[in-house]
Amino acid sequence: MASVTFDDATRLYPGGTRPAVDNLNLEVGDGEFLVLVGPSGCGKSTSLRMLAGLEEVNDGRILIGDRDVTDVPPKDRDIAMVFQNYALYPHMTVAENMGFALKIAGVNKDERAKRVQDAAKLLDLEQYLNRKPKALSGGQRQRVAMGRAIVREPQVFLMDEPLSNLDAKLRVQTRTQIASLQRRLGVTTVYVTHDQTEALTMGDRIAVLKDGVLQQVGTPRDLYEKPNNVFVAGFIGSPAMNLFPAPIAQGGIAFGTRVVPVESTALNRAHGSQVTVGVRPEDFIVGPAGADGLAVKVDLVEELGADGYLYGHVEGSDAQIVARVDGRAHPMAGETVSLLPTPDHIHVFDAETGERLLDKAIASA
Ligand code: ADP
Repeated sequence: MASVTFDDATRLYPGGTRPAVDNLNLEVGDGEFLVLVGPSGCGKSTSLRMLAGLEEVNDGRILIGDRDVTDVPPKDRDIAMVFQNYALYPHMTVAENMGFALKIAGVNKDERAKRVQDAAKLLDLEQYLNRKPKALSGGQRQRVAMGRAIVREPQVFLMDEPLSNLDAKLRVQTRTQIASLQRRLGVTTVYVTHDQTEALTMGDRIAVLKDGVLQQVGTPRDLYEKPNNVFVAGFIGSPAMNLFPAPIAQGGIAFGTRVVPVESTALNRAHGSQVTVGVRPEDFIVGPAGADGLAVKVDLVEELGADGYLYGHVEGSDAQIVARVDGRAHPMAGETVSLLPTPDHIHVFDAETGERLLDKAIASA
């Protein structure tokens, strides 16, 4: 096993005007499950492919353990990759698919059979070893792709959206299976996804990328509680954090008819007379019309059993607001309510730079 280090790693595609991955500095601990997440085109796959050796590194270095692998060919990096489309060989059985890389590497037949058997047991694939991929379900094919990586006993697993071909229900099951399997095997893993829920549920830590630039690295809790900027704040969490402009007032931030107290040192750092306030849907206290707070007209309530989500807009503006409400007793569409954030859970960002103004999460990179 080994750690993985991106040291100022940069990839500028030929003809590109700006790097697809720009000075990436990131360390993945030995045995850690790190998720690279961000919207499409932010540089996740490029980062993973640089680590795999499938993409040239134009500047900086990549290390696996203490070894600089920047110029080492993919096959000599001791990594195994699981792709989105699994890339199984259709004419080979499950066992042959799983053992193929070992055969190429010259591992003898008995050892191969043993490793394939062990992986099949781990993945609940023993009864399918003689089948061809076309006779398997999507979930089983996904497990064969995992098995092919596991039998190689690599130092690092690289996974590029390995669940995207599964239906929603299977995706939820499989993400728990992969996460628990990774913990059992203890192999350092870098996992790419655009899905923030996958990131939150699977990763020991999450690295958020935007336009090729690393925005924040931290535990799921760090990112949820203390996003470094409005981008991370809006990207992590579902439904997304409410983000809206609010005026700075004496002692805090004006929130409708009420001033919510906020550390003055934070507000002193703000550019201009406004800040961007962030409030998660579950962090509102919902009061009746006319109570202190922000007057919000209810457009729709989505009932989800125990909880519900109120979708509305701030009266006199078109700012949209989402608030979690009791699923059994909630306001109705057309009513006006008064919303106040729970003071400890308010996020404050600079309106100009988008940077967090209140205390930042301790960097755990
Ligand atoms: P993600 O995996 O986050 O969707 P990618 O790493 O695939 O993002 O792409 C990052 C950026 O690099 C995008 O702007 C994409 O268009 C560009 N890009 C990816 N591959 C190539 C390539 N082979 N040649 C030129 N540009 C590329």
